[in-house]
Amino acid sequence: MPKKETQTDMIEAFLEKKDKIKEINRIGELYPEKKSLFIDYEELERFNTELADDIVQDPDQIIKKFTATLKNKVAINPQLIDDPHFHEDDPRMYVRLYNLPRQDKYTILVRDITSDYVGKLISVEGVINKQSDVLPKVRVGRFVCNKCDSIIDEPQETRFLKPPLYCKGCKKRDFRFIPNESKWTDIQKLEIQEPLEMLKGGEQARRIEIWAEDDLTDIGKPGDKVVITGTVRLLPPKQNSSIYFKYVEANNIERVEKEFEEVDIGDEEIKEIRKLAKDPKIYDRIIHSIAPGIYGYNEVKEAIALQLFGGRRHKRLPDGTKLRADIHLLLIGDPGVAKSRMLQYVNQIAPKSIYVTGKGTTGAGLTATAEKDEFAEGGWTLKAGALVLAGGGIACIDEFDKMNKEDRSSMHEAMEQQTISVAKAGIVTKFLANTAILAAANPKFSRFDAYKPLAEQFDIPPTLISRFDLIFPIRDILDKERDTEVADHMLKMHQTDEEQEDVKPDIDIDLLRKYVSYARKNINPIITKDAVEKIRDFYVGLRSGSSDTVQATPRQLEALVRLSESSAKIRLSDKVTVSDAERAIRLTSFVLQEIAYDAATGMFDIDRVAAEHSKTARDKIRLMEDIVKSLAAENHENMASHDEIMEAATERGLDKYDAEKILSELKNKGVIYEPRHSRYMFVEGRK
Ligand code: ADP
Ligand code: MG
Repeated sequence: MPKKETQTDMIEAFLEKKDKIKEINRIGELYPEKKSLFIDYEELERFNTELADDIVQDPDQIIKKFTATLKNKVAINPQLIDDPHFHEDDPRMYVRLYNLPRQDKYTILVRDITSDYVGKLISVEGVINKQSDVLPKVRVGRFVCNKCDSIIDEPQETRFLKPPLYCKGCKKRDFRFIPNESKWTDIQKLEIQEPLEMLKGGEQARRIEIWAEDDLTDIGKPGDKVVITGTVRLLPPKQNSSIYFKYVEANNIERVEKEFEEVDIGDEEIKEIRKLAKDPKIYDRIIHSIAPGIYGYNEVKEAIALQLFGGRRHKRLPDGTKLRADIHLLLIGDPGVAKSRMLQYVNQIAPKSIYVTGKGTTGAGLTATAEKDEFAEGGWTLKAGALVLAGGGIACIDEFDKMNKEDRSSMHEAMEQQTISVAKAGIVTKFLANTAILAAANPKFSRFDAYKPLAEQFDIPPTLISRFDLIFPIRDILDKERDTEVADHMLKMHQTDEEQEDVKPDIDIDLLRKYVSYARKNINPIITKDAVEKIRDFYVGLRSGSSDTVQATPRQLEALVRLSESSAKIRLSDKVTVSDAERAIRLTSFVLQEIAYDAATGMFDIDRVAAEHSKTARDKIRLMEDIVKSLAAENHENMASHDEIMEAATERGLDKYDAEKILSELKNKGVIYEPRHSRYMFVEGRK
């Protein structure tokens, strides 16, 4: 028997299976509501390996045969045929496949879709990052011959409108297209990208375009995880280039709720992780594994450790509102203090993360947008931004202060409710963004001014700042001892292996990533009574403090709980103990001392915590700054001598003792420096 016959027989036999008949009958009843028959590839493979193989190698031909057979078998409900909307001449039905095997490489990553796969059936996993409107596409084009008026219907199988080759009547090739008499279908363009959790160490996610037709449109939305089964196609270049554009014509789109094949953790590794968790030094060991190339900043690193593990998930308050488990951190401060480097390190160790800059104009920005663009042929495209794509992970957002207006306005909702709403041009959608934010921001005037209120120095609204659990101001303090240590540390990275010992992570990055994954997935600690009391006492203390103490808000209380929970997760403990609460309290106190952050008003108020400088003290400091500044400006080397300064200070009413004290303080804080003995200069950028 020739192969062709066998194939058709096989298809026939497969669709005669009992459960298939049942499905086919349902299509008959429900058409056009239901028009697709879904086939499990593994079942087909068990039924006939050869046929299963053929469908992968030559999907165009085989699926066409499957569809033809299906159409023959469906008996459409006669009542439906009477429906005026029903085009009985042309029932559209589809055979859609799912469950293509992984081991034979039919299920691949976007990056693996090479030219070898053109014309083949594949499955590819990804996250939808763009989605166009549903667009009308010609299915059967009606053409009229301009010479003899013959009518020709030409089925359209590609992206381009293809006129008939020649007129059957007069053999000429001159047609006009009649849209109103043509047949149309719905089409939607998507773009998917590789799931971030499959990428290692800050790799870029690759993307590919997907075309979905008819009942496959609007299956998901940006941010959704999907498995696409389809045929790889090429699109000719616009000009005469030989490089084609590839896309996948979807045969099937499935939404997957579960996480993708998460980091695989073996039994041995679980043992190792459990052992690590029992180590009394585990916190230090993790801190020393985060950004080992960056000197110091142990509190920042500790906070990042807590952020990686996160708080307890799935909590709901009695009123139904959900508490967020994600810890948001903000690093603000001088340029060149390794903020960006820190973010990049975290992007490498987090099991799922994305690194973006606030001003990065490429793509959809930070949250989500609806834009009119070419992708949707001039229609609307919904785009998922970093927070949506990194759902369940960490978004490292550099230059947070530079984000655009739209992002800024959706950021409040994104950080607290962890959703992003888009309402534009009739599009109303809500995206999920269960994402922890690690943000970095530079001061407006290039340098951090220790004496100006923070709110004036950063282009971030106080309402947004108050949504961070911890805020770390990082000042580039000129300090010879520390500078030497930083320099030594940095230079070590350029030296031999032996000397690099210090800058190597304590726990191997790969293991740490698995550790974090394991804890996030399996540990959901409950807070103990003692820990609750500890946190409550601290909180009440903050609230009832006198005016020179920082005021706290319930937001801070929640932050304390989250931080304590995370601390327990690091130990893989089911219980949040007093020691966990203490860790959270210690970090919170640390940042509160660092910044005079008045959480009650959501404003920064240097007066409150920086009690060392009363208002008059600050006036004196400003006066001293002015003196040094103006003297330095007069000098050809931009330096002011000690004697000159003291003279001017006494002239302007400062006593000598105060003047000396402030001068040395300005030096310590890095506002001025002493390039030569008893000669002072302003630090560059501080005009
Ligand atoms: P920022 O984003 O804060 O402006 P960067 O992350 O770009 O700063 O850092 C500037 C450079 O200075 C980087 O190469 C970084 O490694 C180095 N650097 C600054 N402070 C430290 C430090 N404490 N330890 C190691 N390297 C540092
Ligand atoms: Mg930077």
